[in-house]
Amino acid sequence: MLLRNLSNLDDLAYYGKKVLMRVDFNVTIGKDNKIGEDYRIRMTIPSIDYLTKRGAKLILMSHLGRPKKTDEIKAKQTDKIQQHTTSEIDINAIKQFSLLPVAKRLSELIQMYNVSFIDDCIGPKVQKEIDKMDRGDILLLENLRFYSGEELNEYNFSKELASLADIYVNDAFSVSHRKHASIYGAARLFDTKLAGLNLKKELEYLSMVKDDPVKPFILVVGGSKIKDKIGALENLLPKIDKLLVGGAMAYTFLNANGVRTGDSPIDYEHFQWVKNALSNYRDKIILPIDNIVTSQSFLKLKQEESNEKKEEGKEGNDNSRFDSLSSSVSSLPSLVSSSSSSVSLNKGAIEEGLLGVDIGIETVQQYSSIISQNSNGLVVWIGPMGVFEIGLFRNGTNNIAKSMALAFWRGSKTIIGGGDTLDALKKAEVSELEVTHVSTGGGATLKFLAGDEMPGIEVLNKIP
Ligand code: AMP
Repeated sequence: MLLRNLSNLDDLAYYGKKVLMRVDFNVTIGKDNKIGEDYRIRMTIPSIDYLTKRGAKLILMSHLGRPKKTDEIKAKQTDKIQQHTTSEIDINAIKQFSLLPVAKRLSELIQMYNVSFIDDCIGPKVQKEIDKMDRGDILLLENLRFYSGEELNEYNFSKELASLADIYVNDAFSVSHRKHASIYGAARLFDTKLAGLNLKKELEYLSMVKDDPVKPFILVVGGSKIKDKIGALENLLPKIDKLLVGGAMAYTFLNANGVRTGDSPIDYEHFQWVKNALSNYRDKIILPIDNIVTSQSFLKLKQEESNEKKEEGKEGNDNSRFDSLSSSVSSLPSLVSSSSSSVSLNKGAIEEGLLGVDIGIETVQQYSSIISQNSNGLVVWIGPMGVFEIGLFRNGTNNIAKSMALAFWRGSKTIIGGGDTLDALKKAEVSELEVTHVSTGGGATLKFLAGDEMPGIEVLNKIP
C-alpha cells in the first residue's frame, strides 16, 4: 500500500504548523520512575528530528499501560467529595501511569530541543500550552488512556484531539492494528495525515517479508501462543524455505507428529491446524530433536523466584553463573547435570511428569547452523525458544539471538519481531545494531504479516 509519509510534503509545509504525532511510548517504568528499555522512545527520534528541523510545533501523544480511566475516577471523586471521603488512592493510580518520566527521558535523549509535558491530553489547558509553543518545540501530552474515549474510539474525544493540530502523523506501527481514537478516529478528521519515518520503515521491511521475501527465507518461530501466529504462518508458509519451531508451541507440533511430549503444554484447540500444516509442509517444518526438560513444580518455583527478583529490581542475579556458560553450546551438558537434578537434557519422547522448557543442544546446533549459514538471504525470528525469562532455560533463545547476529554479518537480512524479542536480544548481549530491523510491534507485526486489517495505516489513505 502506498502511503504518504513525512518526506512527501514540501519542507515548508511544516513551518510553524502544529503537528500531532501518535507515538508508542508504552515503556516499562520502575518504582523509582526510571525508564527500562527505551528503544520505543529512541525509534521516534528520526521523525522528531525531521519535523522540528522544519519548524513544526510538535505535539506527541501516546498511551502507557492499562490505567484506570480518569474520567471515570473523576466522576467517582465527585461522589466521594460529596461524601467527604479521601481520594488519595485514585491519585496514586494516576501517577503510576503518567507519561511524565517519559518526557524526562526524551529530553535527556534529545537535549538540544525544548521538550515540555502537560498533565492532560485534551481541553483548554492543553490548547493554552500549545498556543505558547514556538517553532521546533516539543510537547508530550499525558496518557491518552486516562480517557475511556481513547480505546472506545469516541467521536467527541477524537474531535478534541484533532482540534489540537493542523497535521496528523502516525509513527506508532505497534498500535496500528487498533481502532482507537488517537490512531483512527482523530486521524480521520485531518486533511493531511502522514506516516512517520519509523512507521514507513516498519512497513517497508514487513511488506518485503509478507509479499516479496528475499530468498532463501528462514522463519524461526517460538513462544507459547499458536493462535496469535496462525495467520502469519498461513501467509508465510508457502513462501518460506524453512520453518524452525521452538518454544512451548514446538510441543504441540511434536505431539501432532506422534512424539510423546509428557506434561508439556499442548494447544488442543489448534491441534488440527498444526496437523494440517505438518502434512502440507512436511519438507519445510523442522522440529526440535532434543529438549531441556523439568518438572512442573521446579518450573513454578523458578518462575516465582524470577517474579520476586523482578519486583525487587534484582532481576537476573542468580543467572550469572549460567550466563557465561550459555554463551557456549558445548558447555550445556555440564550446566544441566551440575546445576540441578531437576533439569535434564532429553532426546526424543518426553516422559510423563516432565515438560519441555527450552530446545536442547543438538537442536540449538542444528537451528544455529541453518540460521547463521543463510548468507544473503532472509531470516525472520518471532518468539523465544524456551522460558527465557529464567536463566536456566535461556540457552536456546540466547544462541538463536547470536546466530541471527552472525547471519546479519554474513549479509542476510534479519528481522526480529514479537513482544519479547528485544528483551531476548538484550539478555543474549546482542546489539539491536546487529539486526537489520527490530519490529516494535508484537501483535501488530503478526497481524500485518497475516494480512489483517490495520486501521491505523488504512486511515492514512482515507479522505476525511
Ligand atoms: P508468546 O507471547 O506466544 O510469544 O510467548 C512468549 C512466552 O512463551 C514467554 O513468556 C516464554 O516464557 C513462553 N515460553 C516459551 N517457551 C516455553 C515453554 N517451553 N514452556 C512454557 N512457556 C514457554
